[in-house]
Amino acid sequence: MSDLRPILAADLGGTLIKLGIVYGGRVVARKLIPARSDEPLAARLPDLEREWEMLAKSIGFMATACGGIGISFPSIVDSASGRVLTHFGKYTDAPQLDLKEWAWSCFRLPLAIENDARAALIGEWRCGAGRGCDDLVMMTLGTGIGTAAVCGGRPLRGAHGQACGVGGHFTLNHAGEVCDVCGNLGCAEHEASTAALPRLAQREPDFPASALARETRLDYAAVFHHAAAGDACALRLRNDALRVWGATAANLVLAFDVSRVIIGGGIAEAPELVPAIRDHIHRHVRSPWGKVEVLKSELGDAAALLGCEWLGRQAGATACVPAEAHCLASC
Ligand SMILES: [Zn+2]
Repeated sequence: MSDLRPILAADLGGTLIKLGIVYGGRVVARKLIPARSDEPLAARLPDLEREWEMLAKSIGFMATACGGIGISFPSIVDSASGRVLTHFGKYTDAPQLDLKEWAWSCFRLPLAIENDARAALIGEWRCGAGRGCDDLVMMTLGTGIGTAAVCGGRPLRGAHGQACGVGGHFTLNHAGEVCDVCGNLGCAEHEASTAALPRLAQREPDFPASALARETRLDYAAVFHHAAAGDACALRLRNDALRVWGATAANLVLAFDVSRVIIGGGIAEAPELVPAIRDHIHRHVRSPWGKVEVLKSELGDAAALLGCEWLGRQAGATACVPAEAHCLASC
């Protein structure tokens, strides 16, 4: 019998932590709190406990009566053990924490933890732009480039939790520079991402005369805006980026033999983006079986939180739950 209890969900970002109670593909209660990701995660866990208890109470539930916990984390994780394997300068104590033990001691609930890009794809797969397709990839264009794959109806994790999770660090330019994030050569993320944009813009000879130079925040929203107005520097940066992201998406399609590509992240709101990536794939990727679908994310920044419902439910279905927990859940 399927477990229809709500799931406690948390999407741990670098700036904000999104907390929610998720149920039936919807976030039925939510709260945003500052991440303070430069501080130890251990110091934030009591906040998560308190906020989840309050959220559960707001919908007439006890947190301990929920069906499980799903956490989206911005790094590489071992979903089987529930351990964070490394950190990228955020929540640096996380690899030392036993989050499954914490969840059990606080709530008597099983916990699942997943890489944030993969959690977002799971959300889209179960209740967003990925519905009805069991072979798909997602590329999230934000500060960096997050990627994830579902193959044959299973999230692809690989031997070390990294399968398809580092698509932003595939080499696109073998003669390129060393990526300052991962050390690979000519990574997609190094060639075109919000983090790389200031460096890329400074290289353009006409950047000082471009409208981009007067932007207080240089991001791709500004690049697309000024490119549409005919700014030559912005046009070159936009077109270069579209080629990089199109090639990255094409590599993902070729590597994982998927039927659908979902594009997420704030940049996906630019109307030119999804058609440009779709056009690149249809022109350059051989797919004798038909055409790869390229769709924009439907769930936006709620995707990972909604992915946590499936993750938390999986944890609940596979956990070895003592009889004591069933008693608490039914009280
Ligand atoms: Zn890299």
